[in-house]
Amino acid sequence: MARGVIPRQPAKTGRHEAARKVELRAAKLPRDGGRSQRNTLPVAAKPKAAPAATTKPGKAPAGYNPLAPERVSEILKRLEATYPGATCALHHHNAWELVVATILSAQCTDVRVNLTTPELFRKYPTVQDFAALKPEALEPDIKSTGFFRNKSKSIVGAAKKIVADFGGQVPDNMDDLLSLPGVARKTANVVLGTWFHKNDGVVVDTHVHRISRRLELTQSDDPKNIEQDLMKVIPRDKWTLFSHEIIWHGRALCVARNPKCADCPLENLCHAADKTWSTVDIHKNAK
Ligand code: SF4
Repeated sequence: MARGVIPRQPAKTGRHEAARKVELRAAKLPRDGGRSQRNTLPVAAKPKAAPAATTKPGKAPAGYNPLAPERVSEILKRLEATYPGATCALHHHNAWELVVATILSAQCTDVRVNLTTPELFRKYPTVQDFAALKPEALEPDIKSTGFFRNKSKSIVGAAKKIVADFGGQVPDNMDDLLSLPGVARKTANVVLGTWFHKNDGVVVDTHVHRISRRLELTQSDDPKNIEQDLMKVIPRDKWTLFSHEIIWHGRALCVARNPKCADCPLENLCHAADKTWSTVDIHKNAK
């Protein structure tokens, strides 16, 4: 649905009401963090039936604060209940493999990356193997992930620098990670948060970008500013977890087009302008 269009009202047949009587059920991620189920997962936690409210797009009412700690805390609580154990969906066995997989995931699905990396890491098991390559030699192996020329340059360049400057070990701090070719804050945050368990920032991918705006946690359209905004309102110890949960949410329910709002556990906290179902007021700037 185009943004700004008035969301669909509950059906008069009561069809939606029936659907909404389903109890909140937490999604159970498998022990591998959901990797085996890839993008098919999560489970929708359905909110209890609530009375429909006006859904005409409008300004947020005076006094409404989307960044109020209680609201943010409730969002985090519901996400944790819906996506327990959410973690990075990219398959990896060490920090270097995660760097490679994250670089490959740009403009590509995690499913596609996970189909590509097993053979890639079998062929080139170590960072030294990648460092010894010319970028052109890597291109055929990663072609299916798209943008393979740039990705080859980034991966081989990063491998060379890790071998030359960091003793073959992926650095565990933001500044050194950002010095690697092809590594920007998104990749650095994925590696620091997922592998090194350091909350240095918030991963802002396409899902986090879209959903943070829908939830009015940011008004910005720039990933760097979005990350700064999120770091101000999300408690630091939740930064990595929040990213993973939102990414799962973006795949399962809060998809880019026609989000599944009737099944969303955040529905009555969300005033997004492009909701497909709403029991609360719509805020035209929440997009
Ligand atoms: S209610 Fe809809 S738009 Fe809002 S977070 Fe849920 S799925 Fe996304």
